[in-house]
Amino acid sequence: MTVPYRELLAGIRQAFPQPVSDRVHDSYFIHSVMRAMDQMDALKSERPILGEYLPLDYDAARAATLPDTGMSVEDVTSDLVSYCSGLIIPGHPHTQQNVIPPPTISSLIGVLLASFYNPNLAWDEYSHRLAVAEVEMTAMMARLVGYEADRAGGVFTFGGTGTTLYGVKIGLEKAAPGVMESGVRGDVVILASEASHYCRYNIAGWLGLGARNVMTIPTDARNAMNVDVLRERAREALQRGAAIAAIVVTMGTTDAFGIDDLAAVAAVRDALVDEFHLPYRPHIHADAVIGWAWSVFNDYDFDGNPLGFRPRTLRALAGAEKPIRNLPLADSLGIDFHKPGFAPYISSLVLVKHREDLEIIRRPQEQMPYLFQFGEHRPGMYTVETSRAGSGILAALANMKLFGKQGLQVIIGHVVEMAQLLREHLEGQACATVLNRENFGPVTLFRVYPPGVDTFEIKEAEQHDAACRETLLFHNEYNRKIFRYVHQEAMAGRGVVLSFTDCCRVSDYGEPIVALKSFILSPFADEAHIAVVVRKVLEARDRI
Ligand SMILES: *Cc1c(COP(=O)(O)O)cnc(C)c1O
Repeated sequence: MTVPYRELLAGIRQAFPQPVSDRVHDSYFIHSVMRAMDQMDALKSERPILGEYLPLDYDAARAATLPDTGMSVEDVTSDLVSYCSGLIIPGHPHTQQNVIPPPTISSLIGVLLASFYNPNLAWDEYSHRLAVAEVEMTAMMARLVGYEADRAGGVFTFGGTGTTLYGVKIGLEKAAPGVMESGVRGDVVILASEASHYCRYNIAGWLGLGARNVMTIPTDARNAMNVDVLRERAREALQRGAAIAAIVVTMGTTDAFGIDDLAAVAAVRDALVDEFHLPYRPHIHADAVIGWAWSVFNDYDFDGNPLGFRPRTLRALAGAEKPIRNLPLADSLGIDFHKPGFAPYISSLVLVKHREDLEIIRRPQEQMPYLFQFGEHRPGMYTVETSRAGSGILAALANMKLFGKQGLQVIIGHVVEMAQLLREHLEGQACATVLNRENFGPVTLFRVYPPGVDTFEIKEAEQHDAACRETLLFHNEYNRKIFRYVHQEAMAGRGVVLSFTDCCRVSDYGEPIVALKSFILSPFADEAHIAVVVRKVLEARDRI
């Protein structure tokens, strides 16, 4: 049977938002969105999961083919919703899984608006006022962290990994000028702590430095870089003639919320420049993709405590804010709004302290003949991406305006308060130890022990005493079992979704120390939900 294409085209046109105002069609669009929301709503229950968590059939997925004919918007919607079944609901008060926030309504609208007319942030010719939004966000965040906003620059990129990629790439060009043109020659290293994000290896690999040239510096009990070891390792590298592309400091580690001493690292860097008469200043990049949000407390009145946080919370907030205050000492830094900024993926901003640093990575115009002939704002001349979406920018802007500084203080303060409560509850149990007591974020790492173990001594013994190797490994397995039980229960709608880290620290004798992990980011979490964690863990202990 033949159908003239024009008949089919009429149907296809209905599937697009209309290019010229058509209110009737707008209601069809909105209605389609509402149907999607209704169907998503039908997947909700009391449990922290949408629909059912069923086994996945990848064999069936591999058999997928392009259908001969299309579906209606309605059928596509139902099909799309089916793919959301089994997802964890990050905003559920029983979700404490990882650094995954629930997005706000405004940030979701931001993503939608920025997707509607497809602005391309490569060039203001293609993005117009969204380019201004990016400049606004850069200035706003530069001021927030304490950079001189007139001198700072920045650009949104493809994730926290992207922000560190920029930092290291800029540092690489400073340490070995001309790499962009001629490639990496010779010996170039990156230094970062063992608690820093594993993207350091990826970045070293993709930049052609090689993952083996990442020098990993041990951390102390606070999960902060040991600065004495940093100094020694950096000196060794310089003595053998290597160049330092970047020192990556981590301001809020993913697992434990460890914060490096940026002031001490900057002092070491400055001393090395003098000692070795370096023709460049090794670049310091601060991976603050989690920690940036604590900058909202830089001018909080901790004595007056106008928001009325509990004393323990106040101490935790102040303890984190103190090192975060040093952020302006970094030459560049990364911010993830899709972490403690409550935006959907991807929304990440890299800031440079001095705008000129972005010039170092600018490509020559001749390489891009069909773009950038005019216009004022052309980030596409130095970004790693070519096309670049505006969704991350509008999502971030939406949330910063929605919350304001005070709103962020409230929400960060609340999740920290909940984490502190969890610690109190856990520490009230003889069978549990908190591993990151010295860290003050929304994440709690803890271990549970079988009956008869003296938890006052076991933590130190497992960390330092090689004679404890067998015991440590046994307890690692024990905690894995506890986690499996708690996780199964959570999936069945009984209890809390936690996560598990296979190596939150390495013992002095080289064995990984595993831990259960609670990362609270839901504004809906409250004291009752915290008590459930402890109840479930004790129950697990009885069952295994
Ligand atoms: C999450 C995280 C990253 C990676 O960020 P993405 O946005 O996932 O690319 C880097 N560093 C730290 C400390 C992180 O927590």
